[in-house]
Amino acid sequence: MTVDILYILAHPDDESFGHAGTMLLADQMGISTGYICATRGEAGKIRDAALATQPQLAARRDLELRRAMKLAKLDELRVLGYRDSGMDGTPENEDPRCLIQADEEEVTAHLVMAIRDLQPKAVIGFGPDGVYGHPDHIRIGKLTDRAIIEAAADTDPGLGEPWQVPAFYHVAAPRERILASRDNPESPYHNAPLEVLNKMGSPEAEITHWTDTSSVATEKYNVLMQHATQITPDSPVAQPNHPLHQQFMSTETLIRRELPWTGDEQDPISRIRDAYPATHQR
Ligand SMILES: [Zn+2]
Repeated sequence: MTVDILYILAHPDDESFGHAGTMLLADQMGISTGYICATRGEAGKIRDAALATQPQLAARRDLELRRAMKLAKLDELRVLGYRDSGMDGTPENEDPRCLIQADEEEVTAHLVMAIRDLQPKAVIGFGPDGVYGHPDHIRIGKLTDRAIIEAAADTDPGLGEPWQVPAFYHVAAPRERILASRDNPESPYHNAPLEVLNKMGSPEAEITHWTDTSSVATEKYNVLMQHATQITPDSPVAQPNHPLHQQFMSTETLIRRELPWTGDEQDPISRIRDAYPATHQR
């Protein structure tokens, strides 16, 4: 099978927060979607202790991801199964099974094989900021950049026929919104040091694609809430009248990246954005 849009991210839930609205709109427009998830997120938090113990978390998050992606009408889900490396500076960083310890050639080969097999018309990966600097986000983002180039080259025939991805995007969390949320006591960034926040996300001026996902906000919310170990109903994002909720549900943002070959301006992500442009687009 092939997919029109392919997400390559690190953890179960990376796809839902910033992209579930676009997945739902894609489905409505007859555009197919796939997700390559590098880990099962087993080093994540457990916000509801009734749902899993730490040893159960990988299986639980795998289940949450499958439920979420069913609701998001995702067409193809592949989990690579590396271990979650945890936040920077935690003991999980040293686990030989984790993504940041994995052999770069091996991870890249998995991605090249998936890209050549699924022949996506647009790929979305993490940029060098990793949104908030999670080591797995930065690692999978860097190797996705590399895999896009290698998938197109006439090398490694064992990994499939070369495929030139026509459009490539980086995940873009608007930095100005992250900075603005510093004053909000319910924000995860409340009172975080400015020098840290100034490296998070992407400046709004760099964002090329603003998509209005408010028409599928209810469905997106339902997708998000499948990640029940990661987001509980008392989280600000889960409160329908909270400004953070409205921001998350109504707008999704990406940065289009240049490729060494001529791309396609009518790629599926651009078509969705053109059909549902966000009003505060820059
Ligand atoms: Zn993540």
